[in-house]
Amino acid sequence: VIIDGKKIANDIQAEIRNTILLFSGRKPCLAVILVGNHLASEIYVKRKTQACESVGILVIIKRMPSTIQINDLLAEITALNEDPSVDGILVQLPLPAHINPMPIIHAIQPDKDIDGFHPLNVGKMLIGETGGFIPCTPLGIQFLLSRSSIEMTGKHVVILGRSNIVGKPLAALLMQNTPDGNATVTVAHRHSTNLKELCLLADILIVAIGQPKFITANMVRDGAIIIDVGINKIDNPTQIQGYQIVGDVDFINVEPKCSYITPVPGGVGPMTIAMLLRNTLISYQNRLQLNKT
Ligand code: NAD
Repeated sequence: VIIDGKKIANDIQAEIRNTILLFSGRKPCLAVILVGNHLASEIYVKRKTQACESVGILVIIKRMPSTIQINDLLAEITALNEDPSVDGILVQLPLPAHINPMPIIHAIQPDKDIDGFHPLNVGKMLIGETGGFIPCTPLGIQFLLSRSSIEMTGKHVVILGRSNIVGKPLAALLMQNTPDGNATVTVAHRHSTNLKELCLLADILIVAIGQPKFITANMVRDGAIIIDVGINKIDNPTQIQGYQIVGDVDFINVEPKCSYITPVPGGVGPMTIAMLLRNTLISYQNRLQLNKT
């Protein structure tokens, strides 16, 4: 089965749109801070904006020059934290090299941190406490698995990659004592020595390393479930634009061996955006509830 992430994400977006229609008064609002003119960031922000607008979420884009100083960026975040009409704040990464992203992530009020990167939200997720925000890509992967009716309990999940935005939070989510968790999780990274053997042990192999077509057919056991998070641009002179987007999995050769696989594009990517909308809606609903009490 090729898991259609685009279709699942569209279904979730339709649910979000219908929920937002039930509310009168102000609309949910996401503020996006975009520093500099990094081409990939421009594309990501455009996609996120279009998705938000399609479900009825307002988007405010705060553009800042790449020369901005950290204090000016922090001042902008403070203003958005204090603005009662803003439900979510997203700082598009990466930031220019002279700005350390950590103080920026710390400055976003946890109840507006719809990316789920603030240490308070990370901590809540790790201890299994509800009410925080979970990072969009891991949450999207968990939705992708559950909406494909893939049972997780007792499965051996091998995750390649230990970044703070994908591998680490995903491991925390899938090992939790929850209906969509309860898996046995192994996390591997660039210093793991027996990668092929680890991959062959996986019932579910999730790859988030940023290495084009790294996972080959001989690294996958028959019937495994493969989730490919990678987004890599490789040269391809046969394409009009001269390049092609591929995942971390050698899709053509791996696909015949596995029971489920996500394509790139059209797998995890659309789910990440759907979860951003979902987190923004939850923040909006929380804020309305608070104003009532
Ligand atoms: P990162 O660069 O922060 O981390 C990469 C991780 O992979 C590191 O933990 C590193 O140890 C590990 N790694 C690298 N090479 C390895 C190797 N040869 N063997 C084993 N481990 C190796 O990356 P990230 O931000 O987690 O992103 C990973 C990939 O996922 C990228 O291609 C990125 O574009 C993509 N991504 C996609 C989405 C989406 O929505 N689809 C979201 C986030 C990231």
